[in-house]
Amino acid sequence: MLNGDGLRVVLWVAGCSHCCRECHNPVTWDVNGGLPFTVEEKQEIFRELNKDYISGITFSGGDPLHSANIMDVTELAKEIREKYPKKTIWLYTGALWEEVCKEEIVRYLDVLVDGEFEADKKDVTLHWKGSSNQRVIDVPATLKAGDVVLYAE
Ligand code: SF4
Repeated sequence: MLNGDGLRVVLWVAGCSHCCRECHNPVTWDVNGGLPFTVEEKQEIFRELNKDYISGITFSGGDPLHSANIMDVTELAKEIREKYPKKTIWLYTGALWEEVCKEEIVRYLDVLVDGEFEADKKDVTLHWKGSSNQRVIDVPATLKAGDVVLYAE
């Protein structure tokens, strides 16, 4: 419930090179950390997404757009978009929208939360993000407008 709109399945991937000060998940920085992602884990995600009350999936980490992750996460996002067109797909990354907006995965996303966590801009009252520099971006509206459109909460 804290990782996007509604009740969501969340996949935390291992691998992040942003090294944000006061990161809440440093255990996810190592690309060799975590548990193997196999057919069983994928089926578990699909089983959850089959439930009516699940709004969609959120990719977090770690950084799903780390070079070690982006290809596999793109393939999974594409498959989910095709299988579950009514479910939403959110993604958290330490990268800026401007750095990743040309990546294939963007076309499968509904919302992208961008930017590193900046401890001096931390604000616990913010919705769906940890620091005020981060942006909760409405991806389809942004692609249409050609400029960043924030997600209406
Ligand atoms: S991008 Fe996220 S996971 Fe990576 S160091 Fe920053 S806060 Fe931690």
